[in-house]
Amino acid sequence: MTVDTPVPARGCRDAAVLKERGQREVFCGLTGIIWLHRKMQDAFFLVVGSRTCAHLLQSAAGVMIFAEPRFGTAILEEKDLAGLACANEELDREVERLLSRRPDIRQLFLVGSCPSEVIKLDLHRAAERLTRKYAPHVRVINFSGSGIETTFTEGEDACLAAMVPALPDTGERQLLMVGALPDVVEDQALSLLSEMGIAPVRCLPAARTDKTPGVGENTVVALTQPFLNETAAHLERRGARILSAPFPFGEEGTTAWLWAVAQEFGVDAETFTRVTEAPRARARKAIAAATETLGGKSVFFFPDSQLEIPLARFLTRECGMTAVEVGTPFINKRIVGPELDLLAEGPVISEGQDVDRQLDRCRAARPDLTVCGLGLANPLEAEGMATKWAIELVFTPVHFYEQAGDLAGLFARPLRRRALLSGLEG
Ligand code: SF4
Repeated sequence: MTVDTPVPARGCRDAAVLKERGQREVFCGLTGIIWLHRKMQDAFFLVVGSRTCAHLLQSAAGVMIFAEPRFGTAILEEKDLAGLACANEELDREVERLLSRRPDIRQLFLVGSCPSEVIKLDLHRAAERLTRKYAPHVRVINFSGSGIETTFTEGEDACLAAMVPALPDTGERQLLMVGALPDVVEDQALSLLSEMGIAPVRCLPAARTDKTPGVGENTVVALTQPFLNETAAHLERRGARILSAPFPFGEEGTTAWLWAVAQEFGVDAETFTRVTEAPRARARKAIAAATETLGGKSVFFFPDSQLEIPLARFLTRECGMTAVEVGTPFINKRIVGPELDLLAEGPVISEGQDVDRQLDRCRAARPDLTVCGLGLANPLEAEGMATKWAIELVFTPVHFYEQAGDLAGLFARPLRRRALLSGLEG
């Protein structure tokens, strides 16, 4: 056995979960479009929403606007809100204008928002109607990114889940890597898998429509993100099997993830060691540089991205931190169970949010580092607490060996900055 992942005597799988159902402070699922539109190169995301939705996308996208952007907002005006027939006609007209101007678009996502949901605009029917009109050149798919239905990373889950029913059938024995990774990270993962002799490996989402993977009973799915609950359920309905493994964050998580895949595809221990030895050593070295800052410090997670449990495992096991509270929007033990097994008992595990009560717990604990959304970070910083914006963890390449040092560095930076500032004040 090459991979010895020591499991704590008592992990958090069976720990009591503090379930909160109060007010929450988290971005809506539209945010996912920012990384999804970069990944899918012949897709367009048309948000059917308000000026607020358009502003959110513009400001979240920041400098990432291309000359020909791959997302936009069809803004519902007051007259649209007054009558559905009018809104549908407007939508059809907007789509026609867009597709005649942009023949490169092969997949069009109609993305629901709070306003489209409030007026009950049926985007599913709209997508079917438009697919009939524009197939086979363009496939029109709908999903919701509204703040009423989704938080932050659930937008990607909703998008990928909406794609699954249209994937072609295949009986081929294959590995399907699921989750939108930056190209450079995806290439690293594919290269490691290829060096072990694992083939074929396909990706969802694919960069281009002509690379769309099939799915079927001989498909084995390795999720790269812990928030893909709906997507996993849809893939299972198509006969695929989901591998149970920790997620590829840090040296340990990456090794455990790869090992689960390697075992499934019959890779021998010697090959596994040969392929992973050097990148594992590089990852450990890179993490050690940040551990000097992180070791012995405490961390408190507010619920944002659903990455919280894997990241708490990484920070406590590989960086020497102590977790005070690990808050996460949802806990699906079928998916994060292996992570909970590795996370030693101790932290409060909370699901959902009641933001005022959670702020009280955070202030009482005075953690060295608080991981939270933008809206909470500024007030907490003003109270003298160091914070890390959760959104950066989704926008930055952090998966697999070569990014493990950067991942640790993201948490070390605010602590170093605070130490410098207090040195200056002193
Ligand atoms: Fe705001 Fe809802 Fe639009 Fe998201 S979908 S930006 S929460 S109005």
